[in-house]
Amino acid sequence: MTRYPDVTEFSARTLEAIRLVIGSRSAALHEPTFGGNEGQYLQDCLESTFVSTVGPYVEKFEAKLAAFTGSTHVVAVGSGTAALHVALRLAGVGPEDEVLVPALTFVATANAVSYLGAVPHFVDSDEMTLGLDPVALRNHLSTVAEVRRGICVNRSTGREIRAVVPVHTFGHPVAIDDVVALADDYGLAVIEDAAESMGSVSKGRHTGTTGLAGVLSFNGNKIITSGGGGALLTDDPEFAARARHLTTTAKIHHLWEYVHDDIGYNYRLPSLNAALGCAQMEQLPEFLASKRRLFEAYTQAFAPIENVQVVAEPPGCQSNYWLQTLLLDEALADQRDAVLEATNSSGVTTRPAWTPLHRLGPYADCPRASLPVAESLQRRIINIPSSAGLT
Ligand SMILES: *Cc1c(COP(=O)(O)O)cnc(C)c1O
Repeated sequence: MTRYPDVTEFSARTLEAIRLVIGSRSAALHEPTFGGNEGQYLQDCLESTFVSTVGPYVEKFEAKLAAFTGSTHVVAVGSGTAALHVALRLAGVGPEDEVLVPALTFVATANAVSYLGAVPHFVDSDEMTLGLDPVALRNHLSTVAEVRRGICVNRSTGREIRAVVPVHTFGHPVAIDDVVALADDYGLAVIEDAAESMGSVSKGRHTGTTGLAGVLSFNGNKIITSGGGGALLTDDPEFAARARHLTTTAKIHHLWEYVHDDIGYNYRLPSLNAALGCAQMEQLPEFLASKRRLFEAYTQAFAPIENVQVVAEPPGCQSNYWLQTLLLDEALADQRDAVLEATNSSGVTTRPAWTPLHRLGPYADCPRASLPVAESLQRRIINIPSSAGLT
């Protein structure tokens, strides 16, 4: 029989294993590295006076993102949340529709649904990918939903289910082909939340490029940062053109007149942010390599400790290892808080997974599947220091 260590022993050994990798310094969960042309490009941007939504850096950044991800069209916007909002709107999501969203994700995924007056419908996760479980979702839909004239309807709420938003959690690719196959059967649009997975590839395709559209984030805590920012990826030229239009106040091109043909948004990425993003893109291959080294170092350090694993990329995938994740066995779940306490009080920043969204006040009454894996993962996940600068 396995002997489970006592609380202080387990948290002390966890702290020791992290220290083995990062040394005696204090460490953030994730901080950016500015080791390239950031200063030069920002200075150039200032000198050109094009610091806002016009200027060459936005187009340069979009071109770099397209080349790296293999997406035909890229629309840079002010945040990942803004990109999700616009992508869902263009996917046809409107008031009183439902959108399938994992319960275990950052709140922005569900917020973007709510901005459209639609309702998130929470679904369960897969222990292997930490993302949406397409098998559990198929079972769930087969009991609660039916397809009427090509439209998926939730039989218990009467609402139409328009879209599904798989999230590549902590950078690990979700089983996207299975999600797309399921979405095709039920007439759902797939919008990939790849906010955390820049640089992650599944079966040769960059995350965010398989569904109708994908979304990236360049917030300060992501693998590359533009200070704040996001992007919309799509291979559909019409979708891209409409996204560009809606994110720039839906203004019709005209030499001098102000004509807007829709209620658009001021969501365009400023040039200053794009300049920072360009410099970060040049370093992305190094960031990816150092994050992989960090994963290997943690895996070695934790190898002697029983009942805990460092989460590895799913088979057939390359993860960007954005956030390194410890997964405790269920028997150790009640020791999670002791580990969080021991590490954070000694300068090593660690965090639990997000509170599952159906347990947040604003989302408590939303429809949901049974969520045993999301609930279990939430009790057992600890994110540990993950910055590229640590190795
Ligand atoms: C960061 C993040 C977002 C939102 O991106 P912002 O650029 O911060 O708006 C959305 N979804 C997930 C999963 C994220 O981690």
